[in-house]
Amino acid sequence: MRLNSSYLCLICLHIICCYTTGNNYIKDNTLQAFSGRIVYPTSSTYDQDRISFNKKIDAKPAIIFFCNDSEDIKIAINYAKSVRKPIRVRSNRHSYEGFSIADDAVVIDISGITTIELNHDKTTVKVGAGNDLYNVYKKLWEEHLTIPGGSCPTVGIAGFTLGGGIGFSSRLMGLAADNVVAFELITANAQFLTINEQQYSDLFWACRGAGNGNFGVIVSLTFKTHQVNNNLSIYKIEWDWDQLYHISNSWFRIRETAPDTLMMFLRFQKQEGQKSIFSFGQYFGSMIELKKILEPLLQFPAKNILVKELNYMEAVDFWAGIPHRIHATSYREDSNKQRQAFKATSLYLRQPFSRQALEVIDKYYTQNDIKNNYTIIDSYGGQINKVAENFNAFPHRGTIASVQILAYWQNDIEKNVQLEWSRRYYCALEQFGEGGAYSNYPDIWLKDWATKYYGNNLHRLKQIKRKYDPHNLFHYEQSIPVE
Ligand SMILES: Cc1cc2nc3c(=O)[nH]c(=O)nc-3n(C[C@H](O)[C@H](O)[C@H](O)COP(=O)(O)OP(=O)(O)OC[C@H]3O[C@@H](n4cnc5c(N)ncnc54)[C@H](O)[C@@H]3O)c2cc1C
Repeated sequence: MRLNSSYLCLICLHIICCYTTGNNYIKDNTLQAFSGRIVYPTSSTYDQDRISFNKKIDAKPAIIFFCNDSEDIKIAINYAKSVRKPIRVRSNRHSYEGFSIADDAVVIDISGITTIELNHDKTTVKVGAGNDLYNVYKKLWEEHLTIPGGSCPTVGIAGFTLGGGIGFSSRLMGLAADNVVAFELITANAQFLTINEQQYSDLFWACRGAGNGNFGVIVSLTFKTHQVNNNLSIYKIEWDWDQLYHISNSWFRIRETAPDTLMMFLRFQKQEGQKSIFSFGQYFGSMIELKKILEPLLQFPAKNILVKELNYMEAVDFWAGIPHRIHATSYREDSNKQRQAFKATSLYLRQPFSRQALEVIDKYYTQNDIKNNYTIIDSYGGQINKVAENFNAFPHRGTIASVQILAYWQNDIEKNVQLEWSRRYYCALEQFGEGGAYSNYPDIWLKDWATKYYGNNLHRLKQIKRKYDPHNLFHYEQSIPVE
């Protein structure tokens, strides 16, 4: 039987304060009730267990608790308090800036909590916070159901949803966060709470859009489900760079009147030194209808065009690159081959890119010494924008698109060039944005990041933070401030 958590905390404190102990002593004597795996810097798996998706992150935590359930999470929280070390909450390790790990921190890893349970009438699904998106899609597909997730299969359902979560179904079904009907979480004082519209509704509001490592450790997320019985259509088109102005203008015009059933992306890229323009997307309808909507774009001579009908799961696999791309956790196993180092940032648009903005983009992509650089524009609108900016903590409801800037490098020389490019490109492009940024694409360099991420919702978020985490236990470089 497990020990009561506050009792455990006392024993833990006692032993740590009274004796000078080694890590194994702590494990053997005070963490016996912990059912998961504990990793120390001396453990043989330490280097693998501290790997992050972004290769630029190289943090060395003091201890990693791989938790199996809520009781394990409580033990880990109490342990961190007793040794007075910072806590980092981690699920699938995709934080761009490594906010789920830190030097000398206690990492509470919940990737082992992977249950997925449909309710009796299959209208909701309770998902363990350790699942990645692909697990969830795959399980729900057995019933021809889904939730609106993102394209990358390895991203964690928890980190994705807690920051908002946008993907191929969002204009039709809303953000992932908009589809949550309940969370289970462990608070700063190691209390288990079920939160929803009826109980702890303020905390429930905050966790939908600003929940990443801010208020507690999420154990499960319950979502509304959506039926996906019919085939859908996907498209992918690539053009030469010299059509930048035409393609961009045409894309924004189509976006303006596109039905909610169509999610469109536009990507300016330099890949291995070659510039090109991409648009891709997913339409819940037939290929003929999709081609009709895309007609203005299809008029421009393209390098590659792909339009095809698939069932929902085939589309998930297509965007995930399966079977060609190795699935899931492989980035954790091979630190060199699967992972890349990158810097990202974001902004939001209320207007299509003007000619002046496109001149800036053209100028920065024409820089000779950059190699792997992307500007990805996600179309907003549809269900995302049909709710008010204070519907939940995700505020960017009146925008027409998000713009994500990504720069990758292989070595230190490239790193310096890419970081400098990112900084200057963002500064030049920022004037065309509306002032916001997406917290799921965090950027440690952003000034006034809290206002950029949370807009008019920031004031309420600070109040909720003070109420549920007054001592700022869940703290990192860009966590919701208590003051
Ligand atoms: C390749 C790639 C593709 C992406 N595609 C999309 C996309 O299509 N759409 C989109 O919206 N975003 C996308 N993202 C961004 C992604 O949503 C965020 O990086 C997300 O936060 C990652 O969650 P994670 O659980 O994998 O990462 P982690 O690094 O484990 O966690 C990320 C953040 O969430 C917190 N967190 C994690 N688990 C919990 C928990 N159980 N309780 C409380 N806090 C927790 C962490 O503390 C950290 O602050 C993508 C990222 C990558 C790297």
